[in-house]
Amino acid sequence: LASRIRHSEDTVIRVKDVEVGGSSHVLVAGPCSIESREQLYAVADALKKSGATILRGGAFKPRTSPYDFQGLGHEGLRIMKDVADEVGLVTISEIMSPTLIEAAADYVDIFQIGARNMQNFDLLKAVGETKVPVLLKRGPSATLEELILAAEYILKGGNDRVMLIERGIRTFETWTRNTLDISAVPILKQETHLPVLVDVSHSTGRKDILLSCAKAALAAGAHGIMVEVHPNPPAALSDAKQQIDIEEFHAFWKGLLDSGLYH
Ligand code: PEP
Ligand code: MN
Repeated sequence: LASRIRHSEDTVIRVKDVEVGGSSHVLVAGPCSIESREQLYAVADALKKSGATILRGGAFKPRTSPYDFQGLGHEGLRIMKDVADEVGLVTISEIMSPTLIEAAADYVDIFQIGARNMQNFDLLKAVGETKVPVLLKRGPSATLEELILAAEYILKGGNDRVMLIERGIRTFETWTRNTLDISAVPILKQETHLPVLVDVSHSTGRKDILLSCAKAALAAGAHGIMVEVHPNPPAALSDAKQQIDIEEFHAFWKGLLDSGLYH
């Protein structure tokens, strides 16, 4: 169902007034975790002023350590809806379990399936039975075929609104958090008709190369970019090192627009 052979046109996914896929680009930006209304509002306001349209933020966080901040849970989703409705943005947030689907669907516009859950088959099947758009992240050790087959689980259930996102894979390299597999972009676009995005924050884990990587992603044909933005990154409760502040976000956004690659 994901194959280009069956469906030669690019799939364009409409979420409220935003289109993902086809010839336009989207910027998905926001904090790693939703921490408070003030924190999320500060980022949402910056996005709105810049013209970015999709606000991200985790309420249910898949943390490596059980002792780290696990997210605000349902309270986080309530904050997200409240802020997004006030500012006027489309939202995306991760769900980690099928039991969350019903409650989360009232609060977010797009479900994110995180890298660690790319092959959580019960979750894939469950979101496949909904009509909620899904952003499926590539697992840190998943091949492109495995990513496409994971998408296939969602499509097979009848949900045809699936987007793919490369977020870096595990290699021997230690100077980046993961290795951004830029070749994933043209390959996924060749093999599938689904929108393809690139997460420059989790793939690199560093702030100084975000713009170069985002430009590379757009040059390779990506339909969108994801970047983590926090009003005060050093104080962030998760991914403090890789999040950019609001001033850096505006510079990043300007860099993308000036590159001529984003439209
Ligand atoms: C995220 O985007 O919040 C996240 C946890 O990313 P990943 O699943 O790619 O690690
Ligand atoms: Mn993060």
